[in-house]
Amino acid sequence: MKTYQVLIVDDDEFERKVFNRTLGYLNIKCEIHDAYDVASTLQVLKQKDIDCVFLDYNLGSITAFDIIEQIKAAGIQVNIAIITALKDQNIAVNLLKAGAVDYINKADLNPDKIEQIISAAATIKTYSKQKNDAELALKNQLAKIEAILESTQSAIFAVDKNYLITGFNSAFSKLYQKYFATNTEPQKGIDIQTVFSDRLAKPNNSITRSLSGENFIEEQEIVFHDFDKHYFEMSYNPIKNEHNEIIGVAVFAQDITDKKRNEEALLKAKNEALQAAQAKSDFLSNMSHEIRTPMNAIIGITDLLLDKLAIPENREYLQSIKYSADNLLHIINDILDLSKIEAGKVELEEEPFNLEQKINELKRTFQPKANEKKIELITIITKDVPAYVKGDQFRLNQILLNLISNAIKFTSKGSITVRVELKKGSAENCTLLFSVTDSGIGIAEDKLNSIFDTFTQASTDTTRKFGGTGLGLAISKNLVQLQQGYMGVHSKLGAGSTFYFEIPYKTVSPQEIKNIVPQQNQMTEGTLKKNNASLLSGARILLVEDNSLNQFVAKQLLKKWESEVAVAETGVEALHMLAETEFDIVLMDLQMPEMNGFEATAQIRSGAAKVLNPKIPIIALTADAFEETRKRVIEAGMNDFITKPFKQDDLYGKISRHINR
Ligand code: ADP
Repeated sequence: MKTYQVLIVDDDEFERKVFNRTLGYLNIKCEIHDAYDVASTLQVLKQKDIDCVFLDYNLGSITAFDIIEQIKAAGIQVNIAIITALKDQNIAVNLLKAGAVDYINKADLNPDKIEQIISAAATIKTYSKQKNDAELALKNQLAKIEAILESTQSAIFAVDKNYLITGFNSAFSKLYQKYFATNTEPQKGIDIQTVFSDRLAKPNNSITRSLSGENFIEEQEIVFHDFDKHYFEMSYNPIKNEHNEIIGVAVFAQDITDKKRNEEALLKAKNEALQAAQAKSDFLSNMSHEIRTPMNAIIGITDLLLDKLAIPENREYLQSIKYSADNLLHIINDILDLSKIEAGKVELEEEPFNLEQKINELKRTFQPKANEKKIELITIITKDVPAYVKGDQFRLNQILLNLISNAIKFTSKGSITVRVELKKGSAENCTLLFSVTDSGIGIAEDKLNSIFDTFTQASTDTTRKFGGTGLGLAISKNLVQLQQGYMGVHSKLGAGSTFYFEIPYKTVSPQEIKNIVPQQNQMTEGTLKKNNASLLSGARILLVEDNSLNQFVAKQLLKKWESEVAVAETGVEALHMLAETEFDIVLMDLQMPEMNGFEATAQIRSGAAKVLNPKIPIIALTADAFEETRKRVIEAGMNDFITKPFKQDDLYGKISRHINR
């Protein structure tokens, strides 16, 4: 059974005794304490956990009001019942207002009433203790939250439904002061629309959105008082009350200006780099055109002269011119390739091809050179390598050409082995490992990485001794990487080198193989010419070309093959001639004044030019070797293209293939 702690405050000792005795009749157990003035009352209250105080209204010179006031002033909370002989209702009301829990007339006091008051007071005490504990916990919680809000860099503020600011943290306060260039703190109750009205991009719209329940993040620009532009990531979050009704919005604003400026700077740098790369690629493309056009004349005329010259000494001079011109063309092509790779303009083919055929072709190409240097040239394809794979055979050819020609260049005795083996294979894919091993001069260990960089050679006297520009390996490595493979080298100075690379290919189904075989049985351009030297005899060819040297070269070749050649210098002239005279084929330059080759072709094909045969075969003659140009040529309706400077065989083969006779 609980023992209630009861305090009787009365200056009259007799009265206290009477009250004490009455308490002895109660059904509840009480421990009684006495006091007779302010000091003794406070002393007991401080020492004991009192459940109920019975306080006499009149304590000589002071009243119950004074005692209550002193108890409150001491920060003590206790339930007080006033006992008095007075019957003044006003005093009763005022005492209750001052904090007393009950007011009893001495005449009405009986054990039941006292018991009731004590147990009611104890209950109130328990509840108020619980309430106090809860309030304290809440206060602690709020203090923690406030500490977090204060420590964050984000400016946080809350507004109510009327857009009035109901709270904010110190980061917001700092932002506010910076924004207005003021030392004055913001005040609760100010209208957010007047705060950021003109500068914050319509915050009221975002707040209105959030007031309708949306929770979102958006970037906003704010121009500060000093016109410094800042970027903020603003998060809008509806605030709800206990009935789940939206009563306001909490906004978190994070200054992302630095991040944004970095991003802008990066983007700018990227664009500038892209523009520079584009300018470089444009420059190279234009230059290549400009250089290839005279090269066409030099190589073409040299070829023609070589056919005609009989004096051996002169032939030798000419051979040298031809060799240098071919070499120069090779360098131009390398530079072009590199610029294409750098500009991301290389498009890979995905066609089935026969590996053995490729390797044999390469062997045929290099055998004379190997014989000349008395080096053995060995090719090995291991048995598990599939006969056909699907991928870019031209790029593979280019890489192997580079590696084998390097191997031959840097080897003076011994052998060169080209090997193809299967690294990994599945039903759909296979990875092939290619290697070119030579017994040549080898490469110093510290140069093994750098030789794959552009314009880099293993030693400074390489160009003088062996020639070259240091581009081949850079191009090859890039081409391998473009095909999702990788390239490497093993080498020792004086002990030869092995360059190897892996490329994943798609496998080819038996059905696809069946479809390819007939195509490959077609006659090659070379065989066409050999078998039937006069295939072009009497062919009526319209050459559309503005450059007189190129006209000359092409005319000489075509005449050599006994064709009839007419020349148009512009697209317009070509259209007139095609409208009046029958031709079997058109060789069309692409860049010409007045009307270029694309437009002229469009007019021929659409019938707009009223030519006699709108379907006449057209072969584009182009000095620029870019993939895009090739695509445009075909899209424009031309049948084929040939890049200048052209090889006699190529020109012959392409005309023979397309001519309509
Ligand atoms: P280039 O041969 O035109 O100089 P590459 O990029 O093909 O350019 O080769 C770069 C350099 O790597 C060469 O100059 C040479 O020093 C070295 N190198 C390449 N292949 C071999 C090889 N098979 N043996 C020895 N050195 C080689």
